Amino acid sequence: MSASAAVQIVGRLAPSPTGHLHLGHARSFLVAWWHARARGGRVVLRIEDLDVERVKPGMLDETLRDLEWLGLDWDGSPWIQSAGLSRIQAAADELVARGLAYPCVCTRREIEAAQSAPHAGEAGERYPGTCRGRFDSVEAAEHESGRKAALRFVVQAGVVEFEDGVLGAQAFDVDATVGDFPILRRAGFPAYQLAVVVDDARQGVSEIVRGADLVDSTARQVLLQRALGYARPRWWHIPLVVDAAGRRFAKRSDDIALARLRALGVAPESLVAWVARRSGIPFAEPASARDFAPEFDMQRLPQAPVIATPAALRELHPAL
Ligand code: GLU
Repeated sequence: MSASAAVQIVGRLAPSPTGHLHLGHARSFLVAWWHARARGGRVVLRIEDLDVERVKPGMLDETLRDLEWLGLDWDGSPWIQSAGLSRIQAAADELVARGLAYPCVCTRREIEAAQSAPHAGEAGERYPGTCRGRFDSVEAAEHESGRKAALRFVVQAGVVEFEDGVLGAQAFDVDATVGDFPILRRAGFPAYQLAVVVDDARQGVSEIVRGADLVDSTARQVLLQRALGYARPRWWHIPLVVDAAGRRFAKRSDDIALARLRALGVAPESLVAWVARRSGIPFAEPASARDFAPEFDMQRLPQAPVIATPAALRELHPAL
């Protein structure tokens, strides 16, 4: 690969400071970082703190400490999503002005839930389009209903297709499964889908490496990228770390929080090697994240989820 091609690779780490980072995050972030660094790419860090009700005090500092402990670095200062709301708001206004989004005064919980990335099992029901074409403007919607309005993006009928570097060709019928989806919450904060698209474009992100449970959000993000005229990044949705029963670590994930592993005395090099052995570098011995970057190749990433059985966890520490 030529040097000029390499400088265009921009990967990203996009943690939400809503809870402790755990083994699953470590795996996603290491793979995302290796993927960019292996090819001489840049890595940007974005703190996704728009879910104000779920952001927890102290988690931003802990997140930065966790990433540094893993041996990850990034180019430029951390990008704090909540500090750059005006560009996201401007994108929402543009979509409304072009008739591609509309005010919605439905009281559905889903509008409120839209601020966070919808991980597996969190998908809502299809929005039936109640407010589509109902009001002339946001002001009219709020005046007539006596409620604050959210904004929804107009989804056209048809299948959305994109290529995923891990999962292959993908096709989602967003209209049939999700319908018009929120881009701005009632309280004025942007919904996850819009915020992530605007900020990925603003940060020049070319490679989106994240957990496979976000793959169906990608179709919504493709629609927004298209509507806003943004370049399409490449996607790599990687298999999750699951527990012995095959479930994503959601509950009980604090047991495998990086802060806990650190407190138990697990060496970051051991954790990095544990992840590397499950990410296409089978005989990895403890070493720093940087040491594995030249060896990493996304094409060798196993297709199956990483199963963190009790025995596998005990490789990290006997107390796990
Ligand atoms: N901040 C999101 C999360 O932690 C990730 C969103 C993304 O990678 O697009 O769930």
